[in-house]
Amino acid sequence: MIIGHIPAGYITARLLYSRLQTRCADLRSFLWAGVLGALAPDLDMLYFHLVDQRQHHHHTYWTHFPSLWGGLLLLSVVWALTQRHSVGAMLAVIFSLNGLIHMLLDTIVGDIWWLAPVVDQPFSLFTVPALY
Ligand SMILES: [Zn+2]
Repeated sequence: MIIGHIPAGYITARLLYSRLQTRCADLRSFLWAGVLGALAPDLDMLYFHLVDQRQHHHHTYWTHFPSLWGGLLLLSVVWALTQRHSVGAMLAVIFSLNGLIHMLLDTIVGDIWWLAPVVDQPFSLFTVPALY
């Protein structure tokens, strides 16, 4: 699934670059921030394999909580609106937006705890049965 998030992050950043009037941010930095934001939630795979010894589904970690990415996106948008010439704010917006899009894409066939940490209930659009 990591492979699918890279093009999604790139396409989102590329499409939004001119529409967001990114001001000071150059295209290259904006694309990198977008791709890194799309990949960031899955960095928990390192913890999953190296520390947790695959004891818990990595979607139960806080890095896969939509509330985290939604909160970061909200803070980033407020930052961008209050400091109109901030490159960091624009990079934070695309980074956190792609983190939130990562949650949407993971929801298609994977469980995502959309209401975590308040409600312990996973949601997914489709269920793929494990055959082997
Ligand atoms: Zn993921």
